[in-house]
Amino acid sequence: MTQQDSVTVAENSTQQVDGVQVVENAEEPGLLESPQKMLIRPVSVQGVMEHSLQHRERVGVQDFVLLEDYRSEAAFIDNLKKRFHENIIYTYIGNVLISVNPYKNLPIYTEEKTKLYFKKAFFEAPPHVFAIADNAYRSLVYEHREQCILISGESGSGKTEASKKVLEYIAARTNHLRNVENVKDKLLQSNPLLEAFGNAKTHRNDNSSRFGKYMDIQFNYEGGPEGGHILNYLLEKSRVVSQMHGERNFHIFYQLLASSDQSLMTHLKLQGRPEAYKYTSDSTSHMSQRANDQEQFRVVQEAMKVIEIGESEQREIFEIVASVLHLGNVKFVQNDKGYAEILSHDANSGNAADLLKVNATALREALTNRTIEARGDVVSTPLDVEQAQYARDALAKAIYDKHFSWLVSRLNSSLAPIEKDAKSSVIGILDIYGFEIFPKNSFEQFCINFCNEKLQQLFIQLTLRQEQEEYLREGIEWEPVEYFNNIIICDLIEARHKGIISILDDECLRPGDATDASFLDKLNQHLDGHQHYKSHRKSDTKTQKLMGRDEFCLVHYAGEVTYNVNTFLEKNNDLLFRDIQSLMASSDNTIVGCCFKDYNLRSKKRPETAITQFKNSLNDLIKILSSKEPSYIRCIKPNDFKAPMQFDDKLVSHQVKYLGLMENLRVRRAGFAYRRTYEAFLERYKCLSAETWPNYRGAARDGVQRLVEALQYEKEEYRMGNTKIFVRFPKTLFATEDAFQI
Ligand code: ATP
Ligand code: MG
Repeated sequence: MTQQDSVTVAENSTQQVDGVQVVENAEEPGLLESPQKMLIRPVSVQGVMEHSLQHRERVGVQDFVLLEDYRSEAAFIDNLKKRFHENIIYTYIGNVLISVNPYKNLPIYTEEKTKLYFKKAFFEAPPHVFAIADNAYRSLVYEHREQCILISGESGSGKTEASKKVLEYIAARTNHLRNVENVKDKLLQSNPLLEAFGNAKTHRNDNSSRFGKYMDIQFNYEGGPEGGHILNYLLEKSRVVSQMHGERNFHIFYQLLASSDQSLMTHLKLQGRPEAYKYTSDSTSHMSQRANDQEQFRVVQEAMKVIEIGESEQREIFEIVASVLHLGNVKFVQNDKGYAEILSHDANSGNAADLLKVNATALREALTNRTIEARGDVVSTPLDVEQAQYARDALAKAIYDKHFSWLVSRLNSSLAPIEKDAKSSVIGILDIYGFEIFPKNSFEQFCINFCNEKLQQLFIQLTLRQEQEEYLREGIEWEPVEYFNNIIICDLIEARHKGIISILDDECLRPGDATDASFLDKLNQHLDGHQHYKSHRKSDTKTQKLMGRDEFCLVHYAGEVTYNVNTFLEKNNDLLFRDIQSLMASSDNTIVGCCFKDYNLRSKKRPETAITQFKNSLNDLIKILSSKEPSYIRCIKPNDFKAPMQFDDKLVSHQVKYLGLMENLRVRRAGFAYRRTYEAFLERYKCLSAETWPNYRGAARDGVQRLVEALQYEKEEYRMGNTKIFVRFPKTLFATEDAFQI
């Protein structure tokens, strides 16, 4: 390299750094455009290097593989923080996108920005969710490889926003295509609809998705969206009947109650105030959100129109939502025999029955009695008040949960392609709950964390597979990299006989005296000694000392989590008394009837337990994802206050750990961290050597060979593949790369 090797810089430059003219970008200060694109005049490489250091000091590196101190978590976080404070929320680890929630609207999703990513390779534009979307789209359309985009992160980290940006980008990217507007509208409108029914305000997120979602966008041979399909996972149905103080029930309850449509309200026998209904009365903040709820209700109705949910179907949906509110207000009193009774003047059960279109007396009966079949005899036993309340809440949860799944299938029938292209292919987007470690963890966290173990396992398998395939394609010898494989934890949870799930199911199916405590005993009996399982019995370490007698601890890949077994059996059994089931199956509300129709009184077979259903649907999902090429978006929440410009190092450090980012970076750096096609590499760096600049005309591979020799790359540092150069750690390059940061 000589002093005067020429790097040239663009028009609209605003700054001069030691002879380097630097192009500043309004949103990303210090952002440099690709050198070849804007040739005006030569500047010195030395200058570029120096500028690069200053630039790096300010905005960090755009790909963590370029981080010198890549093993240091502090350096990792520092890089994220620097960028965050410069309003640069995206950074790569190779092809994994890290996104930090800015909690403010940044001008990075404009039409102009969107177009910047059309047909661009990763390194041709700043890291962005659009780059991930474009890469997936191009791989699908031009290389016919099915894609999936997996988005993870904790609640409030920006997963759902990222998934919407992907969808919006794809909508914009396919603007030139004919006959896709209608499909795109439906795809886009599926979001507000599902969010109304499946999202809620929580402490951590005002619009928290309380279900997992996988959505396929289907494309025809031209690359135009032709339809979609959604799979939903584990709606948090307990929220229907109770919420933590300061949180809300699902948005739709408040939206419906805020409706200005008086005739609808009269029909639904609703009086408009959330505090009048037990299931919505807990939240302290609903009044301040009323105007927004009212507006959102209009948005939901509009979305329903686009999805082609007609007026009568809409009415039935709202009848169900209202019936849940009325059910919640049903009160039981103790009669003189000590059993539960609904007072005759209690209008709530009557209202619920009317809206659910079932017989009112039958509903009262079903809520206060339980029919059991024993040796061929059918015996009806009255319930006490507590049991009746349990039955009522179980019904409310079941109705809402099943109706939510119905809504998803209704959306699917509307999103189904009218004419399915024989060659249609898909990009899947997974927006699913991240790892959860709370002060108290229960069955729900167990399910969610199991899901995250499975996804981590998939990440390992797919990333390795992807790597091996690329090495093979490029004719480069594969070098195995040491990494932690979490399959041992997946097995601990789901192994056929002695896994936690199978032990739990055995206890649930065991007649007689099975309890949460007996379940825990069995776990301890079978699993004590497993390196990822800890029982309270061994209290030699710090964590175990803190463990209660009703707890067990799992050493997840993301850290230790202590679970309390209380209610595990009940939640896993998920029983709905048969009287209630059969009554609902007889409903004249077509949706309710449809939701409960599978219930077969005669069936002796026990329904699958909640965890087994979840495990099966998860394994189906893993199968779907395994058949696709993955892209990853890892979302990070910078603070607990939903506030812009606040970056809490400790909170971020926690997430960096359980998203496995340091391990991800270590593995990436252990191999050939940096790879480019010969053409792209040459195009980008040819200016660094007189061998290739300004007028190199030979084959790209030869040019790259000359270039790396001129740059004095050591032999161990790089490999020449069939179409790409692989660089282990671009020591020589990275300073320059920084200067070229685009
Ligand atoms: P949950 O698991 O609770 O559903 P999530 O990861 O899906 O959480 P989001 O709902 O996507 O989180 O984001 C939470 C909020 O953060 C959004 O409502 C929005 O206000 C803000 N937010 C997220 N991403 C962005 C972004 N890229 N730009 C601006 N604001 C954002
Ligand atoms: Mg979400």
